[in-house]
Amino acid sequence: MPVPVFDLDGTLLDTDEALRTAFVALGVPAETVTFGHVLADECARLGISVDDYVDVYDTGLAQPFAGVGDLVAWLDRWAVCSNKHPRSGRAELDRLGWHPDVALFSDAFAGAKELAPVLAALDVDPSDALFVGDTDHDRAAAAAVGCPFVLTAWNPRTTPQPTDVVARHPLEVVDLLVSPGASGGGAAAGR
Ligand SMILES: [Mg+2]
Repeated sequence: MPVPVFDLDGTLLDTDEALRTAFVALGVPAETVTFGHVLADECARLGISVDDYVDVYDTGLAQPFAGVGDLVAWLDRWAVCSNKHPRSGRAELDRLGWHPDVALFSDAFAGAKELAPVLAALDVDPSDALFVGDTDHDRAAAAAVGCPFVLTAWNPRTTPQPTDVVARHPLEVVDLLVSPGASGGGAAAGR
């Protein structure tokens, strides 16, 4: 069975409001906040410091998407690969009682997230993993190492590409892990 690797914000956690609230607390107009970026890049774009941002980010605010709790409870070996600041990301994992085997955050990457160090830490080949994410960056990170990718269409902000395997509910990821041969859109797209 493939080992699943998950993005965090917008994939397992519905973080839009928590992310926006932190920027607004630092004086950024709510309508100028966008999502799915490397935090340092977005902070630079908006003219604020990463440290200030992490200080005001409320790690108690974001909730898992519906069904994610059941998915995580089902998982055995899994990992997180996120552009999030490690202080925020680890606090959220602790709060939710989630214990992935590997969790790498922005301090583990030179720039945007990379799957290679996550898979190395798991000792898993890319073809034996499944990356689950919500953005073009996630799709590109999977493609960069030849890892199968699933788009989290349970997040209404996702934009599927024609070639994407799409999961409309978190438990469809379980189907894809149990029957990886069904990837290509079949098992997940039919529901
Ligand atoms: Mg994301």
